[in-house]
Amino acid sequence: SPPLLEIRGLDLDFGTPRGRVHALRNISLNVPAAQVVGIVGESGSGKSTLAYTVMGLLPQNAVVTAGNILFEGRDLLEMPSQTRRNLLGNRLSMIFQDPMTALNPVRTIEGQMIDIQHHEKISRSEKRSLAIQMLHRVGIPDPQSRMGGYPHHFSGGMRQRICIAMALLVKPALLIADEPTTALDATLEVQIIHLLKDLQKEIGCSVLFVSHHLGAVAELCDRVAVMYAGEVVEQGGVRDIFHNPAHPYTRALLECDPGRIRQKTRTLPTIRGEVPNLLGSKEGCIFQPRCPQAFGRCTQDTPIEYRIGVEQAARCHLLNEKGLVSR
Ligand code: ATP
Ligand code: SF4
Ligand code: MG
Repeated sequence: SPPLLEIRGLDLDFGTPRGRVHALRNISLNVPAAQVVGIVGESGSGKSTLAYTVMGLLPQNAVVTAGNILFEGRDLLEMPSQTRRNLLGNRLSMIFQDPMTALNPVRTIEGQMIDIQHHEKISRSEKRSLAIQMLHRVGIPDPQSRMGGYPHHFSGGMRQRICIAMALLVKPALLIADEPTTALDATLEVQIIHLLKDLQKEIGCSVLFVSHHLGAVAELCDRVAVMYAGEVVEQGGVRDIFHNPAHPYTRALLECDPGRIRQKTRTLPTIRGEVPNLLGSKEGCIFQPRCPQAFGRCTQDTPIEYRIGVEQAARCHLLNEKGLVSR
């Protein structure tokens, strides 16, 4: 069967007073049904931009210049805007880094959780009891009496649980989570990751999980895409990426300190050099200025994606030298 979400050759620019910022570069990525796909990469690599492009929540100055985003076989970029809006909070839902982005501060949790079920043809009291069940499921104590409260009556961790409950109440096919645990302390983070994993399995939805945190990605994800400067430089099964990385950037991230992944490090290791600015077009490999293995052609030719095994692929000329074929 085709993947639930299929991103093909996606390019995106932001218009700015200084020129166009080429923030997504020829991205191709699949999210299979009932799988969790992680997106990792340094700050500014385009993770949120990719997530927001799929959700259709881009700022005004963003322009998709090429590519397709097929969701359940239909192109999100081509469908009428009303059709697309109807998918949000229905087949597609999102959790944000800051729960207050999603919660209305002046409405009760109960009211918000009933409203979000607007596509369900069921009675209000049934919606209320589904909301209570879901709040209970995400670990809100005594939801029946607490759901009349407002967001500020709950702690940060509880608010994120409420957001997860709201996002999953509609039984989406795809949940997009953009750094959902970054604002929480480490203990809460572990709890929320386990909760997400359990709920994903129960509901059978797919998740696109954006994170800086390699440990959380290793724990939660089936597949991983590594982003650098607007490109997916490597993608593959979670074991391949962590144990057999092919791209020099992925290796640099992991080799900084392999032990730290298992110790559930909360931040990406720092590697030498800086993320390039994304103004204008670039020649050659985007990682070349920082790459310890750069050679002759890396400054002129943009590497295509080479397939390594069945699932793994990376954009690096070294793979061509090894005789691997492009995909
Ligand atoms: P972080 O880990 O810090 O959340 P990220 O990987 O999510 O980073 P994005 O927020 O997607 O990165 O940003 C990607 C690039 O696009 C960055 O260079 C950023 O400065 C630029 N960018 C993002 N939003 C806009 C905007 N509205 N206008 C212009 N440039 C933008
Ligand atoms: Fe490094 Fe060249 Fe591979 Fe780019 S193409 S990652 S510069 S070796
Ligand atoms: Mg981001």
